[in-house]
Amino acid sequence: MGKTDTHQEQRESLVEVGKLCYERRYICGTEGNFSIRLGENLLLTTPASTCKGRLKPDELVLTDLEGKPIEGQTHRPSTELAMHITAYQKRPDIKAIVHAHPTVAVGFTVAGQSLAKCVLPEVVCTLGFIPVAPYATPSTNEVSESISELVTKYDALVMDHHGALALGKDIWDAYYKLETLEHHAETMLVAHLLGGVKTLRKPQVEKLLDIVGVYGLQKPASAEALLSPDACTVDGDN
Ligand SMILES: [Zn+2]
Repeated sequence: MGKTDTHQEQRESLVEVGKLCYERRYICGTEGNFSIRLGENLLLTTPASTCKGRLKPDELVLTDLEGKPIEGQTHRPSTELAMHITAYQKRPDIKAIVHAHPTVAVGFTVAGQSLAKCVLPEVVCTLGFIPVAPYATPSTNEVSESISELVTKYDALVMDHHGALALGKDIWDAYYKLETLEHHAETMLVAHLLGGVKTLRKPQVEKLLDIVGVYGLQKPASAEALLSPDACTVDGDN
């Protein structure tokens, strides 16, 4: 089985996502890793120690669901692949994962500031509540452990002093969630610079949650957390 003539479309999409993440500065150097679940026991993922902005389709690595490369691969998979595998095991509905280090979203964790604020309607409807996974030493089991419960409930999360993880029904769905997450963080940063974040009011968030069906979405599993006084403005507050 040749490497370049299998799953060509998925290989090209993964390469394009790598380029976009690099150009948009969600990753730098050889950071970040992405994967697509091709079958019950088959993953396509990015090679270790390689710039993901300059990948070629035949450099991607096929592995089984334990992260073991399929025979004939010329590159090693990412050292963070175990985190992807944990997420796939927890979420049978997920077919692709993007892990990057977007500057502004990660900056919020470095500053100890929450991103879980209802400020943009589309973020409330698509990502819902944005949780932070506790700090974990990169490339160890701690990383898988730190995200393992959160991925059962959330499709996008930030990892303390590290990065972001986005889960999707395909690689573009995962990428767009990462893009939305960083856009949300950038908007929050601008609001901080201009004097502070003013969250949406609770009735406004309730109304959004009632109409998510209009966008073909389901009410986020985290709806309750979105309505908490930490995430939105409860009447009477400022
Ligand atoms: Zn990372």
